[in-house]
Amino acid sequence: MTEVERSDAFILFGASGDLAAKKIFSALARLGSSGELPEKLIGVAKSGWSLDQFHQRIRESLNANSPGSGNPGAEGLCKKFSYIDGDYRDDATFRTLADHLRDVRAPLFYLAIPPSFFGTVADALHKHKLTRRARLIIEKPFGHDLQSASALNRLLHSVVPEERLFRIDHYLGKDPVLNLVYFRFANSFLEPIWNNHYVESIQVTMAESFGISDRGAFYDEVGAIRDVVQNHLLHTLSILTMDPPINASAESSRDEKTKILKAIQPIQPANLIRGQYAGYLKEPGVRPHSNMETYAALKTMINSWRWSGVPILIRAGKHLKVSATEILVRFKHPPVSLTNEPFPPGSNYLRFRLGPDRVEIGLGTRAKRPGPAMVGQPLELLVMRNQSGEEEPYELLLGDAIRGDQSLFTSQDAVEAAWRIVDPVLNHETPLYEYPVGSMGPQEADALADLPGGWFDPSGKESNGLASKIAS
Ligand code: NDP
Repeated sequence: MTEVERSDAFILFGASGDLAAKKIFSALARLGSSGELPEKLIGVAKSGWSLDQFHQRIRESLNANSPGSGNPGAEGLCKKFSYIDGDYRDDATFRTLADHLRDVRAPLFYLAIPPSFFGTVADALHKHKLTRRARLIIEKPFGHDLQSASALNRLLHSVVPEERLFRIDHYLGKDPVLNLVYFRFANSFLEPIWNNHYVESIQVTMAESFGISDRGAFYDEVGAIRDVVQNHLLHTLSILTMDPPINASAESSRDEKTKILKAIQPIQPANLIRGQYAGYLKEPGVRPHSNMETYAALKTMINSWRWSGVPILIRAGKHLKVSATEILVRFKHPPVSLTNEPFPPGSNYLRFRLGPDRVEIGLGTRAKRPGPAMVGQPLELLVMRNQSGEEEPYELLLGDAIRGDQSLFTSQDAVEAAWRIVDPVLNHETPLYEYPVGSMGPQEADALADLPGGWFDPSGKESNGLASKIAS
């Protein structure tokens, strides 16, 4: 199969599942409206549905996602979608599928199914000779530690090669995350100061003001480190700190991300604070004496010429006082003050707010206060501000997979490098501190931020309370 060959069939395993209803049908309907879909779409699940019932599910899902819109793409999508009702453990399901795919050259199989079925389905596709020119999309999680991720990769590679594997993490297709890549490499002023000569520290925070909702049983198996640190936050850090890719190819940006992930120091237990919000143990589905963290704060470094010596802080938590994903890159202060005025810590910074309520880029400066005295004040230049919107990464990502573009999908090397970073602290041997709902996590985490300015507070309503806003 050449790089540019488009998939000519899209087969959705997990067609009756939650993800299909919430995200996938809407993305497919939009791709259909713009003529991006293959002619043949097939859903596979074991719900016992007829084709009409499956189509009804598609219409209901689209209506639930955009009520009142009339969903112009619904009928076009139903027209293309056929449905196979069958168990993934039953060979007959794949015989029927093979029959449906007789005239297809390069199918795209999307495994939106529980990870325990990845192997069953991949093996059956292989056995029925359906993978020779196929692409395979795999939903996260990609393993639960380094060992299981490597085992999953070996299993998938026994069926399709890496260049036809698409590990999907919708977070990496979000517009504010894509803008981070764009902003870094579309502005020449940034590169000269983007290193340990000028940067004092880096912080990445993903705070959520809500708890685990009705996902207690799922979350209690996973926790904050596996749920968001190992994937979303380490990948955000890799985009923020990677070297410029040598060209626009998927391979070169994936190479740079992997290189930097390999250079991040694995987390030492002494540099990790785990927390659990008060009341977590009473949540439905949570084990009575669960030691699972709902908050994690950690400190690390990147062992590279560019970043050596720059402390990096990452934290994520549930039931915190705000929902905000924010990056703060603090710069060193000027070497000399001409006014004998001491520079407060953290005056110069670049702040990226990635959502969920708003997207901003703030540049922290000091400027002279009006009046005769040479006295300054902090001012934040809000260089970009807009609503985060409801951009749907699945449309972008599935369109890329149909075209065979792997740029926004995670490579085997990157997955394993990210697991290697958190692997030393996945066994729950570190203490767990309780924190009040609506706080910014356990106070014990303050000691990790032993750098000028400490942890920043992402809870400000406009900008982040670090400085005044002078433009919007
Ligand atoms: P669900 O449990 O809601 O759906 C599972 C799907 O797999 C259903 O269509 C189910 O069919 C089908 N299935 C399970 N076992 C069999 C079987 N033996 N034979 C045939 N079909 C079977 O899962 P989700 O949709 O929530 O998640 C799917 C994947 O997506 C998971 O890997 C998850 O981690 C990932 N994901 C989910 C997100 C979400 O918001 N839901 C977000 C990000 C990732 P049936 O109902 O007919 O039994």
